[in-house]
Amino acid sequence: MEKPDYFVLITNHGVQELPVSLQEIALDHWIFPTDMQLSSRQYIPDTHRITIGDTYIGGDGKNQLMIAGPCAVESREQIEESCQMLVEQGIRVLRAGCYKPRTSPYTFRGLGEDGLKLLAEMREKYGLLIATEMRDATHADKVVEYADIVQVGTKAMYDHGLLTAAGQSGKPVILKRGFGSTLQELVNCADFIMSCGNDHVILCERGIRSFETNTRFTLDLCGVAWLKQHCNLPIILDPSHAMGYAYGIADLARACTAMGIDGLLVETHPHPEQAQSDAVQQLNHQQFGEMYASLKSVAQAVGKQLV
Ligand code: PEP
Ligand code: MN
Repeated sequence: MEKPDYFVLITNHGVQELPVSLQEIALDHWIFPTDMQLSSRQYIPDTHRITIGDTYIGGDGKNQLMIAGPCAVESREQIEESCQMLVEQGIRVLRAGCYKPRTSPYTFRGLGEDGLKLLAEMREKYGLLIATEMRDATHADKVVEYADIVQVGTKAMYDHGLLTAAGQSGKPVILKRGFGSTLQELVNCADFIMSCGNDHVILCERGIRSFETNTRFTLDLCGVAWLKQHCNLPIILDPSHAMGYAYGIADLARACTAMGIDGLLVETHPHPEQAQSDAVQQLNHQQFGEMYASLKSVAQAVGKQLV
């Protein structure tokens, strides 16, 4: 078989076929310790700057974004109370799921499109940006239509249909690390999204499974340090799903903030005891307010501001 006279190079502009005469130059300049490419600091040394409404994360690394709200949209009253609290706190991004990836089929799976419509109403009324999850490809288009920030959850990290949909959405994407996946697999999934032409990928460490069973998962802060070193994407942390219990969240949020991260994702519910999913890990609004207030000085100490 004849050798092709081109080679394939993955760049921010997609997959390119280049003449073999350039291959040697490319190989000399594209040396990676791992097979991460688009998301590698060796490809682009600076952290991608991602616009979030009237602010940004990444870039000069000065901002730490707070993304907060209930696990799921449950009712107009519940989501409205959540929005009021966020606006009082000066928070820009509401998170809440409408398609919940549940462990058991006998539990609440979200309000679906009705929930998305409620979120759209809340954006209109309160001026909040909406971060919400696509669980599978059957509703990916709908989530892309309504969301300002699209979330791919831990159980969906390897779903290439979703990664492609997220990549084609052009919207900022929160890519949560699979709880059983390596850092390499996480960044490879980020590369999938980026190779569809979407650079606006935010990595989220949300806890991985370890031998420990007293906490829901184990927040991998070493992994965050590795990502900061090797990867050019903003990194946010989700202490809520990692810990699994409300009592640990404030301490973890402060520890994460001290690492100089780009954002936090925290679950908070007006009445956690009534929550239809993740009830025990959601902070009530008072607990959330106290935690948020305590983050300011920690953020300042590492040269960050809360946005
Ligand atoms: C969530 O953010 O509500 C969620 C389901 O998270 P994870 O995919 O990390 O479990
Ligand atoms: Mn949840």
